[in-house]
Amino acid sequence: MSTPHAPSRERIVAADKSTVWHPYTAMDTYVTSVDPLVIARAEGSRLFDVDGRSYLDANSSWWAMSLGHRHPRLVQTLKSQADSLIHCSLAGTTHEHAALLGEELLAVAPPGFSRVFYSDDGSTAVEVALKMAVQYFAQSGRPEKNTFATLDSAFHGETVGAASVGGVPLFRDSFRSILFPTLLLPSPAGPLDAAFDRDPARRLELAKCALRDAFEHHGKRLAGIVIEPLVQGASGMQIYDPSYLRLVRELCDTHDVLFIDDEVFAGYGRTGTFWAVDQAGVSPDLLCMAKGFSGGVLPMAATLATPRIYDAFRGDPSRAFYYGHTYCGHPLGAAIAREVLAIYRDERIVEGVAERNRRIGDAFAAVAEDTRVENVRTLGMIGALDLAVGDSGYLGAIGWRVYDEARKRGAYLRPLGNVIYVAPPLNIPLPELDELLSIVQDSIRAALSAP
Ligand SMILES: *Cc1c(COP(=O)(O)O)cnc(C)c1O
Repeated sequence: MSTPHAPSRERIVAADKSTVWHPYTAMDTYVTSVDPLVIARAEGSRLFDVDGRSYLDANSSWWAMSLGHRHPRLVQTLKSQADSLIHCSLAGTTHEHAALLGEELLAVAPPGFSRVFYSDDGSTAVEVALKMAVQYFAQSGRPEKNTFATLDSAFHGETVGAASVGGVPLFRDSFRSILFPTLLLPSPAGPLDAAFDRDPARRLELAKCALRDAFEHHGKRLAGIVIEPLVQGASGMQIYDPSYLRLVRELCDTHDVLFIDDEVFAGYGRTGTFWAVDQAGVSPDLLCMAKGFSGGVLPMAATLATPRIYDAFRGDPSRAFYYGHTYCGHPLGAAIAREVLAIYRDERIVEGVAERNRRIGDAFAAVAEDTRVENVRTLGMIGALDLAVGDSGYLGAIGWRVYDEARKRGAYLRPLGNVIYVAPPLNIPLPELDELLSIVQDSIRAALSAP
């Protein structure tokens, strides 16, 4: 619903196509043949376009809006915070929300953390962890420990440091010449078309063997291992067993390597527990959060550190962590992040995931009767499957056919190549979840039966 003075859809699209460079987008195709959704507003689990049509938000708008769009308490927090303080630096100053959020975060964190470092988004939360790890060992008398172990198919963000520890070729290859080298290990999860091994149990065993081997041979030069816990999101919602995380913890202890837990996507209940590592019963050494951390409302992130790491930066000023971002712990974001935690508590958000997971699992299993549907999988508020049709990569076409079908039916269902998935807001009302799931089913069937 556009207001009388709002520019027309045509005007917006024309301006967009002549000026905006879109992320992860082949621009020529976009400009010549894509008819973009033009979103005007959103509420709860729905996006509304400028013509008033609604679309269920199957991916929480890039996995961020874990409490849906415009939760009334978050809108109210934004407004009232804007009336008192929007931005101040965190250098020699502080404010109520950065300070109290620190306490509140440590209260919900896995055991063992004592400090919160604020930054802007998932990439910077990872960047912070990498730099802390390197400086930690440099100041602990082991400067040779400056290499990171990483997993194949991992995604940790797009800044040069975060991209260096990533393992999705499409997001890496163009920049390979400037990324720092890592010890790249086979993923316990997938993608299932990888040459590694198609049997999940065997792949898990092989990945564990490779992990043991790598730590055995290279532990002396490893500063950390960076992990997406339980689910590798960007490479196609590839899920793996918590026992892998227990082995990571054990080997990190034995070889004095930091376990860097990237909960940017998996945290805040996405996998069914508040933190994904809770399901393995282990605590990491550094924990990165963004996305759900602010309920997707603002770019805001944090990295948690243990006393052992923090202590290495104390004492002489030359030992300090000389690192920061303009908007570290900004008041709007910090106020929102506190309210997000309060909503999780008051509305028992994580407790609501089990029933939704059951429905997601049932709906995805029901389309698996088609032999071209493979590897149906769910974890918490994630459901995914692979369509074995045509080119299976990120640029494969079948996923976009499903996207078009879903759009016609009122859902925004962005694929990851041939992987069709849902990761809706954690508090999506059950009737809307059922509506979304039946759109997903109908859209997959329609795309598969198209000539
Ligand atoms: C999205 C994501 C990031 C990067 O977050 P940005 O906010 O896009 O910088 C990092 N790690 C994981 C696991 C992610 O899913």
